[in-house]
Amino acid sequence: MPTSVTARATAGPSEPFTQVTIERRDLGPHDVKIKVHYAGICHSDIHTGRDEWAGTHFPLVPGHEVAGTVEEVGEAVTKVKVGDRVGVGVMVDSCGECGACTDGQEQFCERGMVEQYNSRGYDGHWHDGGYSTHTVVKDHFVCHIPEGIGLDVAAPLMCAGITTYSPLKRWGAGPGKRVGVVGLGGLGHMAVKLAVAMGAEVAVLSRTAAKADDAAALGAQHFLNTSEAGALKAHRASFDLIINTVSAPLDMSGLLDLLRRGGAVVNVGAPPADTTIPIHPFSLIQGDKVWAGSMIGGIARTQEMLDFCAEHGIGADIELISADEIDTAWDRVVDSDVRYRFVIDAATI
Ligand code: NAP
Ligand code: ZN
Repeated sequence: MPTSVTARATAGPSEPFTQVTIERRDLGPHDVKIKVHYAGICHSDIHTGRDEWAGTHFPLVPGHEVAGTVEEVGEAVTKVKVGDRVGVGVMVDSCGECGACTDGQEQFCERGMVEQYNSRGYDGHWHDGGYSTHTVVKDHFVCHIPEGIGLDVAAPLMCAGITTYSPLKRWGAGPGKRVGVVGLGGLGHMAVKLAVAMGAEVAVLSRTAAKADDAAALGAQHFLNTSEAGALKAHRASFDLIINTVSAPLDMSGLLDLLRRGGAVVNVGAPPADTTIPIHPFSLIQGDKVWAGSMIGGIARTQEMLDFCAEHGIGADIELISADEIDTAWDRVVDSDVRYRFVIDAATI
């Protein structure tokens, strides 16, 4: 018999969250049952919950930044044991056999990975996300949260952490490299912490002047106020890598203009479904530049990121909330009024 657990769900794009009972499946041989301690609020939860990417299945239990402890394991599970501190991110299943999966890029599984929420499992059932007291997921998608990182500040690493760590690694952030981070929100503040820990020189590009002191406290050497006319002029051709976390469409040619020869702007921000961003190819041609995208990261890379965070004493900067505050928290995220990730205390769900 599936287990009934408590969760918070929204019934439609403008509906408030309510307490609901959902079912978690019986444990298969490779399943892990996790007691959720904390669940981060990612802006993707909001894009999905407000149907900004189109095609949301309601009622929706969002949440793909889960940190908790293992409560029960299936008979074939060896990766974790009861009591372990663990995290689950965006992915909860993939085929495990295609080129992407065997390359450690499960997020691009050719059969289609299964996400924590708004996604059907290979058994045909919709999977509910982490705004819940418990979840059941396949062992491969469970990562170890090292001792030394609190579970509350670890939860956002499972999406915001890996989504920024992955392109920083791929594009070689490190000593001698100048990295720009556009938008100081959940992803942005993690990008700054991680790039600083990798040894890069980091600049925050933000439209919110009030975040300048925070940017410095996070370790950024520079703060460029993008709402000031001409603020970027002095920084033309000076960055090796720019991570753009903003979901609103920005002037991409303007960002490409900030790159040195051979540099890359990597988009992780994910605009609404009908968005297009015009750029003239000359913005890329002149200086051999790259406009790239990046999506979360594979499971091995996610574990590597967690170990890196433990080694460097990195967790997210969070505002801990109760489950009754989710609606207010979502509005505050949309207003860029979060320092820098809301995390739900699952004991209040
Ligand atoms: P967030 O906490 O809301 O941060 C976004 C930041 O962007 C804001 O704090 C704000 O920073 C800036 N911003 C917001 N609206 C803006 C506008 N209209 N113009 C310019 N700047 C604006 O969101 P998040 O959780 O970090 O997520 C950011 C985006 O990444 C979302 O679209 C999310 O869906 C996406 N995402 C993608 C992946 C992936 O795998 N690629 C994974 C997770 C999330 P300032 O106040 O500093 O300007
Ligand atoms: Zn996310």
